[in-house]
Amino acid sequence: MLQSQLFTETTKEAPRDEKSLNAKLLIRAGFVHKEMAGVYSYLPLGLLVLRKIQDIIREEMEKIGGQEILMSVFQPKDLWLKTDRWSKGIGKDMFKCKLNGSEVGLGPTHEEIVTRILKSYLSSYRDLPKSVFQIQTKFRKELRAKSGLLRGREFDMKDLYSFHSSEEDFEKYYKIVIKSYHKVLGRCGLRAILTEASGKGFTSSTPHEFQVIAPAGEDTIFYCLGGDFSQNKEVAKVKAGDKCPICQKTLIEEKSIEVGNIFPLGIKYSEALGAYFTDKDGKKKPITMGCYGLGPSRIMGAAVEIHHDSKGIIWPGEIAPFQVHLIQLQENPEIKKKSREIYDTLLKTGIEVLYDDRDGKSPGEKFADADLIGIPWRIVVSERTLEKDSVELKRRDKEEIKLVKTKELQTFFKS
Ligand code: ATP
Ligand code: MG
Repeated sequence: MLQSQLFTETTKEAPRDEKSLNAKLLIRAGFVHKEMAGVYSYLPLGLLVLRKIQDIIREEMEKIGGQEILMSVFQPKDLWLKTDRWSKGIGKDMFKCKLNGSEVGLGPTHEEIVTRILKSYLSSYRDLPKSVFQIQTKFRKELRAKSGLLRGREFDMKDLYSFHSSEEDFEKYYKIVIKSYHKVLGRCGLRAILTEASGKGFTSSTPHEFQVIAPAGEDTIFYCLGGDFSQNKEVAKVKAGDKCPICQKTLIEEKSIEVGNIFPLGIKYSEALGAYFTDKDGKKKPITMGCYGLGPSRIMGAAVEIHHDSKGIIWPGEIAPFQVHLIQLQENPEIKKKSREIYDTLLKTGIEVLYDDRDGKSPGEKFADADLIGIPWRIVVSERTLEKDSVELKRRDKEEIKLVKTKELQTFFKS
């Protein structure tokens, strides 16, 4: 993409009412636009990142058998009354409005809707197991929305739901999802700690959260550096300094961001909404369910909280808006011509490039913008580098600048 064509510009200051680090950087670099507390629009660069996160999730969910659907945002009140959630629990956080005399809610989550859909297709043990997911904007009346993308009042969520003929079959799938979530988050540049979380008590098994350690986190966990134990403070039976019940190392207390949450639902929704199947023995039984959430927009915010320095964002490779930021440092025709050639070559090689072809910007401004935007590789073409048939190559997360022959660039990025 030509940076001269990008309608967004970087700014030195973030809006004064914005306190969160991730939002400040994302706004200043032109990734998102703040509409009100907890409500952000995605601009071209921000949408590229969000889509990359969604695509990683989509790919990994499909690998574990998830079938993608897209459910309605409007949800009827009578359905939520059947599960007794219209005015309780998450129902209290639901945006509600009148529609032709009846009431509807804007989906804060989709257990009711998904159960009603699937129950009309799943009738025999032969139809099970199944899992479906969607990636969609969710709406919640969050009390405090001061953490930028970490806590939106409208935000992106991937919600996966699984349907099983037995608790054992569910347990097997639950473990598969755990592995898959670690993979998703790893690809997004996040090291998450599987943490025991507060449950809704639908089954005897414990729900889990995927927690990423960061000062901006709204959660607190007690965890073991050995990686075998972690509990959310909300449910913890341990405290900082205690011995890990598994390996006896000392437990540590940290602030953390919950980027994912997985839940055994048991038969709560299938019983309430009449989702039954006929088992091998000919008996009618309620379907056992699980639900599994990930927040792509929160993941984007968390990535910024963790990967940044005083100059700006440092995107993890797989979710960066582009792989290379190509900077044409001066306005002389020779440099422009050479930069354009490099741009075309890299594009042909399949490398995603943001090409700073802007006139009227000083080298200092171009460097500052590149650091703020945070693309993993920076290539600089200048009078000095051209004398040596070379370009300057620098990683956003390293200080070292290397001179590389222009003709070697293609091979370098191919590997
Ligand atoms: P929290 O305790 O942070 O409010 P939650 O338990 O309400 O989270 P879930 O309902 O399990 O979250 O939602 C699944 C995932 O959706 C979360 O793990 C998180 O990644 C994301 N998410 C939840 N609420 C928000 C929000 N307000 N803004 C952005 N992402 C969110
Ligand atoms: Mg919540």
